[in-house]
This record gives sequence, C-alpha cells and structure tokens, in this order.
Amino acid sequence: MAKKGRVFSGARPTGRQHLGNYLGAIKNYVALQDDYDCVYCIVDLHALTTVEDTLNLRQNTYEMALDWLALGIRPAESILFVQSRVPEVTELHMILSMVTQLGKLTDLPTFKEKVRQQPDNVNYGLLGYPVLMTADIVLYKSDLVPVGIDQAPHIEFAREIVRSFNYRFHTKALIEPQMKNTEIPKVLGIDGKEKMGKSLNNHIEMAATPKETELRVMQMVTDPARAKRTDSGNPDVCNVFTLHKTFSSAEEVATINRDCRTAALGCVDCKKLFAKNLNAHLEPFRANRAEIDAQPKKVWDILDDGSSRARAIAQETMKEVREAVQLP
Ligand code: SF4
Repeated sequence: MAKKGRVFSGARPTGRQHLGNYLGAIKNYVALQDDYDCVYCIVDLHALTTVEDTLNLRQNTYEMALDWLALGIRPAESILFVQSRVPEVTELHMILSMVTQLGKLTDLPTFKEKVRQQPDNVNYGLLGYPVLMTADIVLYKSDLVPVGIDQAPHIEFAREIVRSFNYRFHTKALIEPQMKNTEIPKVLGIDGKEKMGKSLNNHIEMAATPKETELRVMQMVTDPARAKRTDSGNPDVCNVFTLHKTFSSAEEVATINRDCRTAALGCVDCKKLFAKNLNAHLEPFRANRAEIDAQPKKVWDILDDGSSRARAIAQETMKEVREAVQLP
C-alpha cells in the first residue's frame, strides 16, 4: 500500500525505556509505520550536550534500540539508525547555522532552561541544538514530524531556518517540515506530580522484572487527600487510576472508579491489580526483548543497515544543498 509521506522523529539515547517513553512516543512510532515511511533516529550527538547522558552512550544506544525493536519498530520497513553514523548531518548543521540568527537562538526558552539546569556547562551544542535538530529533520526529506502541542514552536523554528536557507540560496532543496499534531499524553511518575523521567528517578522501566515492577508500583503516590484506608478517595486526582485506564479492562476501571469513592477499595489492592495488569501487558514485550537481546550483534546490524539507508537519502540531499550553496 502506498504510504502517505515520510515521518521523522528522533530521541536521545536514554537506555532502557520507561512507561513515559512508551506511552508518550514509542506507541505512536509503532502505529505510524502502518501509514508512513518512518525514519527513527537515536540522536547521540544531541546527547553530547549533557555530560550525564554521555556516560554510557554506547550501551544506552543499544538498550534503547533493543526496547524499540521489542516494542514493534519494524526495521525492514522503517529506518532505525544512529545520528552520528550519518556525518552529513554535521555538515548540514554547519551550513544551516549560517542562516540562523544568533539572537533567535539565545532567546529560545529551551536554551534559557538548559542554562538554568546546567550553569557550569553552557556549551555551544546547547545553543546550536535547534539547528542540528533542523538538519536532522530536513536531511531525510521528511514531510512530517510527530509532535505534541508543546513542541510545536521547535518545528516552527525549523521551518523558519528552512525558509531562510531556501530564500538566501534561491533554491527549493530543503522541504519545510509539517507538524503532525499528536495526542502525546503527559505521563506522570510514581511521585504523581512530575513528568515521568529517569533524572527524577520516578520512572517504571518497561524491561524491569515483574517483581521490580510491582515494588515500583507499590511506591506510587495516590490521592494525597486519602490519609487512611477508611477515607474515600478521588480517582480523578490519582495517577494510579490514570494508568489503570491504559492497562486495565473497562470493567475494572469502572469498578475502581466506583469503589475508590466509597472506600470499598483500598490503595494497596488497587495498586496490586495495576501491577498485575501492567506485568501481563508487558509480558510479550519482555519475551521479545530477551530473544533479541540474546543476539546483540543483530541489533547493531539493524542500526548499521538503517544508518546506511539513511545515509543514502542524506547524500542525495547534500548534493542539492552543495549545489545551491555553490560549494565546489
Ligand atoms: Fe487511587 Fe486506586 Fe487508591 Fe483510588 S483506590 S486513590 S484510584 S490507588
């Protein structure tokens, strides 16, 4: 069946993936493969901007690719590759930096936030991040980038850079990417307050054992107003209930919704049920993962193959770019 266009998305190599990664991105990546040519990139060069992210860069790249494959990324159809294996991206980054105004980069809220987060390591890479991201997207002639509403300004910025390039060099070599607005749920961590993430250690790893998963679930914060077992609870403010809606049956969700409000159901039992359903849901993924992990070379071969296919597209784009810029 003819595909509707090419989708690009990239993510920093963060190692083993957690529920937030799955519900917020990977689930959507898997679904998009049915309708689009998908190019999925592990952006290891972006990770170099943050020291902590580089400590286990190679292992994190492997673990992330392994999780994505086990969750359903199909490497024969989609391109799954590593950013640094396509060096053309750094050349395009350099060229695009010449049509990007410095003031715009320093004004970006994401840059200011990074300066706040890592005041001792305000490196050039942080400033040039949006330019490298633009190079990532346009190098592969991507039509669409799946983004949540809060990431829309990043794509708008990429579009601006592309327009500046095409205008300055009188060319149509680069395609302005479009946003594919996506319902990206904000998954809260086990603290029930902040977005799930490794840096806050409030995450639940997909590849954890059933026992580890249960222990993590039992630590989840529930309705903060429910102090005693005999107090009634409010599922509407409880993160356990929110996740039940994804991993439990409609009947179970309706029962929890009713029994929590009358205190007929306690949080311990509610969490045990959630852990059981979550583990059941993750079982096929864990089996897949173990099978793929038994032959690590295959994962690297998949990344090598994806990188070669990505590079072939990149080299075509760079021919047009060099021609437009009149680089000899
Ligand atoms: Fe949350 Fe369940 Fe406790 Fe209600 S019973 S507060 S839904 S964990």
